[in-house]
Parts: sequence; structure tokens; C-alpha cells
Amino acid sequence: MTSGLRFPDDPPRKLVGIARLAASADVLEAKRQVEYLELETRRFLGRGSGRMADIWTVNPYRGCEFGCKYCYARYAHEFMELRDPELFERKIYAKRFERSAFRTEVHRLKRGETVWIGTATDPYQPAERRYKITRRMLEVLAAERGLDIGITTKSDLVARDAELLFRVAAKNRVRVNLTITTLDETLARLLEPRAPRPELRLAAVRKLSAVGVPVCVLAHPVMPLINDSEQSLDAVCAAATANGASSFSAAPLFLKPCAQQVFFPFLEQRFPHLVRRYRERFERNAYLKGHYPEMIAERVEKIRAHHKMAARDAPEWPLDDQLDLFAVAPGA
Ligand code: SF4
Repeated sequence: MTSGLRFPDDPPRKLVGIARLAASADVLEAKRQVEYLELETRRFLGRGSGRMADIWTVNPYRGCEFGCKYCYARYAHEFMELRDPELFERKIYAKRFERSAFRTEVHRLKRGETVWIGTATDPYQPAERRYKITRRMLEVLAAERGLDIGITTKSDLVARDAELLFRVAAKNRVRVNLTITTLDETLARLLEPRAPRPELRLAAVRKLSAVGVPVCVLAHPVMPLINDSEQSLDAVCAAATANGASSFSAAPLFLKPCAQQVFFPFLEQRFPHLVRRYRERFERNAYLKGHYPEMIAERVEKIRAHHKMAARDAPEWPLDDQLDLFAVAPGA
């Protein structure tokens, strides 16, 4: 391992907090365009803020190799002074996991408290195959009782842990949110270049559901004129139902400036006819307001009713509160 590694984009000024930790991270592995680094971690559980104040969040990795074009979490790398948004998918930080330290934090939780894994970055991204931090966390949680545990991912790797999740669920409440934005493989490859194919994600829904772990399929984000047709959303909900999911949800895209830096050039390349309309709407406000979100909510409700599917039973993740977590809890 190499310690004290410096990157070409490191700014000359003195780094503090999470930026200092990131700049001194040990290299775990480098392959192709992706570099994996180990990040010293003061604590694993982060306390939510604002509307998430009663939630504990866990993100085993910083950065995400899946490289979704709409990803808002790219912003997190800015806290580490890594300002090129593409570094988010090429410099992946794995938190240095210490089982005893994590167990100590978990023991402090009260019964009924919610711990959500993967609120910012995907806990089953490719790095997890090798470092197994998410799995090791679940092994610790399997010894606990009375917690409310959730996971959000768009990776079929979560199915690897189906039996383990079943054991965690024996004494705790467990829920998995699996994101499937479209069943169209070509579109999925464009939007989420290195995420598993929709078909693989559905297989994971099936496997988790078969062992009794409740799965909510999320068709987030709903992007105007890209994946928002009733036909497209209905197809995802129908497939979710057929594969045993217990609930379905979909909400409109939001685009903070950090996400716009990647999403707008992507549109120019792949959907040039949409560029003007997206710029007009999102440059004014990161969130779509008014008729569109209402129309999508009605559409999703109608689709859910048609498939007799429940709404998701999980906390919403207000973006600004998410980003606060990165800002105030560098070790988390
Ligand atoms: S899986 Fe999630 S964290 Fe990873 S790039 Fe996609 S949106 Fe971002």
C-alpha cells in the first residue's frame, strides 16, 4: 500500500477534515480507469439532519463506479477537494472497516431506530465485490435485535447477501429499495453506464423476495421525455410485481449544479432535442415544480393501483439533508 498519495488535482492550499483524509488515503487497487483508495473513518453511522434527523445513515463507499448521468452524489467529492465530477466514478474510497468499532456504534442504537445503508452512494457497487464492507456491516447487524434496517441499491450484487439479509430480518425489520429506472436495456446503459442490466436487477428482486425480504422497486429518477411515459413506468411496475416486489415508487428528477455538469453534456450528446427544455427548467431550480410532479404522482398512483402494488414504506431522502451529511460528518 502506498500512503500519503497525492493527486494531480490536489489544490496547493492546506487541506482540512475529509479533504485531508482523502488526500492521504492509501491506494487499495488501481485498474483500468478506476482507482480504489482506503479512507480512514472516525465513525460509520452518520446522524441525519433536518427532515432526516431521526435516521442513521451508512455509506460504506465514497464515489460510485456506476456513473449514472443524473447522480447528485457527485457533489460529495467536492468536500474532498476533488472538483472534476468525473472523479466521482474513478476515485472510489472504501472506508476502512473495523468490525469492533462498528459493533460499538451499533450497540449504542436504541430499539426501533432506523439505519439506512446507501443513502448517498451505492453500497453494492463493484468495489463491494472485493472489499465486502456492506456485507461485513450486515454480519454485525445480524447480531442485533429490534432495529429498522434499510438498503438502497441498483446492483444485483445485493442478492449475494440474500441469506444474510434473511438472518438480519429474523430479529430486525429489513427493507431493500432496488432502483430500476427503465426496462429498456439500451436506455439503461446510456443513463447508468456501469450499473447492472435491468434484467439482473429484477433477478435480485426475485431472489430477495423469495427469501422473504421486502423489496421496493424505485423507478427514480423520472426524467421528462426520457423514461416518464406511462408505458415505461407501467412496464417497470409490472416487472416488479411479477418478480415479487412488495412496493413501487417513482419520483421526478432533480438536478443540482454538480449533476448538471454531467447531465447537460450527456443530453447534448444523446438527446440534443431536449437540451433547451432541460436547461430552462433546471437552471432556474434544481427541483421541478407545479404540474409535472403532480402529473407524475397521479400517473404512479394509477399504475400502482392497476398492479395492486403498495407505495414505498421508507423514508424519503431530501437532497439538501443528504448533502449536509457529507459536509458535517466527514468520518461517516
Ligand atoms: S448508483 Fe447511485 S450513487 Fe452510484 S452513480 Fe448511480 S446514482 Fe450515483
